[in-house]
Amino acid sequence: MLFENLNIIEPILKALKTEGYTSPTPIQEGAIPAILKGNDLEGCAQTGTGKTAAFAIPILQLLYSKQKALKGPRNIKALILAPTRELAIQIGESFTSYGKYTGLKNTVIFGGVSQRAQTNALRAGVDILIATPGRLLDLMHQKYISLEHIELAVLDEADRMLDMGLGHDVKKIIAKLPSSRQTMLFSATMPKEISKLIESILIKPVKIEVTPVSSTIDTIKQAVYFVEKRNKKSLLLHLLKDKSIESVLVFSKTKHGANKITGDLVKAGIEAEAIHGNKSQNARQRALTNFKEKKIRVLVATDIAARGIDIEKLSLVINFDLPDVPETYVHRIGRTGRARAEGIAISFCDREERDCLRSIEKTISKSISVIKEHPYLV
Ligand code: AMP
Repeated sequence: MLFENLNIIEPILKALKTEGYTSPTPIQEGAIPAILKGNDLEGCAQTGTGKTAAFAIPILQLLYSKQKALKGPRNIKALILAPTRELAIQIGESFTSYGKYTGLKNTVIFGGVSQRAQTNALRAGVDILIATPGRLLDLMHQKYISLEHIELAVLDEADRMLDMGLGHDVKKIIAKLPSSRQTMLFSATMPKEISKLIESILIKPVKIEVTPVSSTIDTIKQAVYFVEKRNKKSLLLHLLKDKSIESVLVFSKTKHGANKITGDLVKAGIEAEAIHGNKSQNARQRALTNFKEKKIRVLVATDIAARGIDIEKLSLVINFDLPDVPETYVHRIGRTGRARAEGIAISFCDREERDCLRSIEKTISKSISVIKEHPYLV
């Protein structure tokens, strides 16, 4: 299957070629025709499956076909809600890349930074708005944003938005959308609350499911090191002696832990920065950019900050701590091995984390191979 077979218009095909995409991923193959036909959509997919393009491409196409007939100032016609600032920024970048020959404009709004640049962009007129719920409601209250012209709405990573306590805000926003809209919801997991949300906001949705959360992406090699808590730092430094490891994303359970690991790495002469919720948005974005541009070798992140982060050719993820929730493990290791690339995910497991490891293995229905050749084996 090629993108040409999905009836995608020339300006978008041209942009996809520039991106180096030739064939659609399974979620794109299912979602693009369904959305173009005007259906609501329920997508069960995690990041790394190409889900952003699965909704961005048809949204751009639907809006492009109509834009010639429209006169007067631009209205916001598509809204994408995302749980975190980082994910919102990335979605915005995708719309900009895939839509660069369409003349359609997008902007991204999120909290934690001054609203000035965002309100200026809104005033200049946008077709597509990507937003985190809190800032969106804030700017709606201040009358900078009206949702009355929305034709297409996307809830991305809906499960995460509910986990983060954003459910109430999301519902308030949905209540302001025109009822004639087309709605798409993407979620990596489908707990009961999401099914309820789906029932209340989607009309006869087409359902698409790819790689259920319990089956980790097959291209990722997973391994675990049994190590005492106090030796985790030494083990990390030991592994990083391997110079062939260019970029590593290290996960820490806590913000304090992320700072500590970063400090230890820097002391050992390894370029590293941390991203977590206590850092300003600008600091987080700077660290992410430095990491993507390979100016730093290690990015240390907490789960909230890392959600949805997309780093091309990230080959190694290290779980310095194991997460308590098994699904979080799947999300973490999904940062590598994206879009069919090979990836490696290593986990450090101390005595207290053995139970977490067992429940992770149960969730992914796989046992993770144990690496015994290292100096800190328990
Ligand atoms: P996502 O699941 O939307 O976060 O996308 C994961 C990664 O796959 C991103 O780096 C995209 O740029 C990339 N990607 C999306 N669709 C395709 C495609 N059809 N071919 C190759 N790469 C893709």
